Amino acid sequence: MTDLDRKQDRAPVPKDWTYAPAPESRDIVRLRERYGHFIGGEWIEPAETYQTISPATEEPLALIGEGTEGEVDAAVVAARDAFANGWSALPGSERAKYLFRIARILQERSREFAVLESLNGGKPIKESRDVDLPLAAAHFFYYAGWADKLEYAFPNRRPKPVGVAGQIIPWNFPLLMLAWKIAPALACGNTVVLKPAETTPLTALLFCDVLRQAELPPGVVNIVTGDGRTGAAIVDHPGVDKIAFTGSTEVGKAIQRRLAGTGKKLTLELGGKAANIVFDDCALDQAVEGIVNGIYFNQGHVCCAGSRLFAQESIYEPLVDKLKRRLETLRVGDPLDKNTDVGAINSKMQLERIVELVEAGKDEGAEIYQPPCRLPEKGYWFVPTVFTNVAQSYRIAQEEIFGPVLSVLTFRTPEEAVEKANNTPYGLSAGVWTEKGSRILWMAQRLRAGVVWANTFNRFDPTSPFGGYKESGFGREGGLHGLEPYLRFDE
Ligand code: NDP
Repeated sequence: MTDLDRKQDRAPVPKDWTYAPAPESRDIVRLRERYGHFIGGEWIEPAETYQTISPATEEPLALIGEGTEGEVDAAVVAARDAFANGWSALPGSERAKYLFRIARILQERSREFAVLESLNGGKPIKESRDVDLPLAAAHFFYYAGWADKLEYAFPNRRPKPVGVAGQIIPWNFPLLMLAWKIAPALACGNTVVLKPAETTPLTALLFCDVLRQAELPPGVVNIVTGDGRTGAAIVDHPGVDKIAFTGSTEVGKAIQRRLAGTGKKLTLELGGKAANIVFDDCALDQAVEGIVNGIYFNQGHVCCAGSRLFAQESIYEPLVDKLKRRLETLRVGDPLDKNTDVGAINSKMQLERIVELVEAGKDEGAEIYQPPCRLPEKGYWFVPTVFTNVAQSYRIAQEEIFGPVLSVLTFRTPEEAVEKANNTPYGLSAGVWTEKGSRILWMAQRLRAGVVWANTFNRFDPTSPFGGYKESGFGREGGLHGLEPYLRFDE
């Protein structure tokens, strides 16, 4: 027997290459039976409650407060009090200390937060662990750095805090959106009343524990849970000076109408239908990874998701072939399994919306491809889907699906790519894949999108501003630009 034979004997080839389950333990998360609102640094027993569940199993997790107008009012009063009696007058370097503390505590407790985020929202643990949590902490670190440098950020403009900020966030990145909203608001000396989305309140409620640990003065951050009615009560409250909203274009428009003439400041971060444009000179395998990351990351529940793929005609066939083969390797299932690529759809309602739009795509004549895939019996799931043969007028090419569904279209010239990419009411993000730097710049100048990624997609950094054009909203979050909505400049 040769040496090689002996070695092969000791390491038999496995019968198949499927992954063994690798579930993350839930033990680190201690859920309470019921949660109240966090107002003035205290837990307030809610008048009404509803049940929050795990979308992967439909298991009830906890009872959550359904914020009433009275409870919103109490939160605004607490925020106003904290603003007037200390927080707004605190030197920036002191505010920064609290923000640094919050950032460090988030890092220390990141596993607990990541598990809870995946449990309540359905996103894969590897995303909440490697993307949501590090970015949320990074946002607090970044804005902590600005708190004592506002005069340098806006020289000769005497920046002052706006007052009480009402913040309404969605369910796709619950803790990260909270960080995007709260970190710049506090850095600028404002106080906050925040409402998390109805389906994903748990990490925002755990965050209240972090605030206590950081010894943030009571009333500086208040969290009121509930549905759209609670959100509307925050928007309408006369004691709120600024509204920051992330969510659907429809609700964003309604908020803008309600605020007209009130003098309240407003930023809207709304929907998107991003074009991911692939030229024939790109590194094709990398582009396929970018396309997959662009649309299947977080089940496609991403406002800047690359939901329209524009493939240059000359590479259409090899690109679609590679993409389909790559889809077969995506693992759909338990969000708490460390091998999972695509988790659960966030809610029954969202699943119904995805199904409706996919049916519309089939009816209008697009060709559907879904890889073979066994879905769990309970919970809300959708197989990663690609549509080819899509016309620009189809609903799947026009409307935000907010699910793991990609529409593939084609183009011949850069001019045509720009024209088709811009043919949407939205303007949040876009991607360009080409080896030519000059072409990237040429495209970026012409694409009507707040962010244009080149040879990558869905990259985020707290230093870089994010926001939209057209029906994707206005105002920027992140970077120096993200400070401005939380400041007034009295000359
Ligand atoms: P919404 O816009 O309804 O939700 C966003 C947030 O606003 C939630 O906290 C919500 O509360 C709250 N809200 C709802 N109605 C009002 C109101 N009248 N006044 C103030 N606040 C309100 O989005 P949905 O969850 O209904 O999702 C619908 C569609 O929106 C999705 O299919 C997707 O296409 C898009 N969407 C886009 C997002 C983005 O980041 N661009 C994020 C989320 C959704 P509650 O949770 O109780 O509804």
